[in-house]
Amino acid sequence: MRNIVAGNWKSNKLMGEALKWMEDMSSWMPNRGHVEVMVAPPAPYLSQMASKAPAGLSVIAQNVSPEGPGAHTGEHTAEMLKSCGVSGAIVGHSERRARFGDTDRLVAQKVRALVSEKLQAVFCCGETLEQREAGEAQTVVHAQLKAAILGLDASALPFVVVAYEPIWAIGTGKTASSEEAQAMHGSIRGWLAETFGADKASEVAILYGGSCKPANAHELFSQPDINGGLIGGASLEPLDFQGVVEGHPDSEKG
Ligand code: PEP
Repeated sequence: MRNIVAGNWKSNKLMGEALKWMEDMSSWMPNRGHVEVMVAPPAPYLSQMASKAPAGLSVIAQNVSPEGPGAHTGEHTAEMLKSCGVSGAIVGHSERRARFGDTDRLVAQKVRALVSEKLQAVFCCGETLEQREAGEAQTVVHAQLKAAILGLDASALPFVVVAYEPIWAIGTGKTASSEEAQAMHGSIRGWLAETFGADKASEVAILYGGSCKPANAHELFSQPDINGGLIGGASLEPLDFQGVVEGHPDSEKG
């Protein structure tokens, strides 16, 4: 079973701040225990961040092109990421779905672009508050999973990480309770098991994202189907991010 805590910086930090963050994380890394740590800095810093990353900390992108090389101005391909020492990318984040036209179809293409290069696809799914209140949360999340993951060969699963991020919890300070989060994670695991078999499903890391911080990480990450987190705000300062990783029961301090 993989345990992963991944940071998503979104459009934050300048280059010097990014490198200082990496320096601060490097001396702390032995405390991560059996937790893989990932960080997704803005695209211009990827190559340099990857070249400075210590063992156990992988650098991933916040986006990837659904296409291969060619006349696609402004896009970076999975192969380009790989050539810079980048280990994967976040795909299907609700901010990109809502504001940058990332449809289910495009997200599915991006997942395929990554796994075909043997890069990690950190695939995000999650419902709005309206959908949760209407009792549709599980239907929405299963539809997103179906659109992006169904049809992948089971051999691609080691390159897939699922991040369940209820949209109402992202950047709002509202966190899903550990019971709510576990219920959804259990249903995601169930869908993966039905689709690919229980053994394969048990190897996929399912991360929780949405206002996760040092104070609530341990409770969330102790649930049976929550294998870690995708962390926005609390990934920006090394001490906060370290506190979140240390909340994982499989970290040195957990
Ligand atoms: C995110 O955007 O992926 C996220 C989880 O953000 P935050 O931790 O700030 O809620």
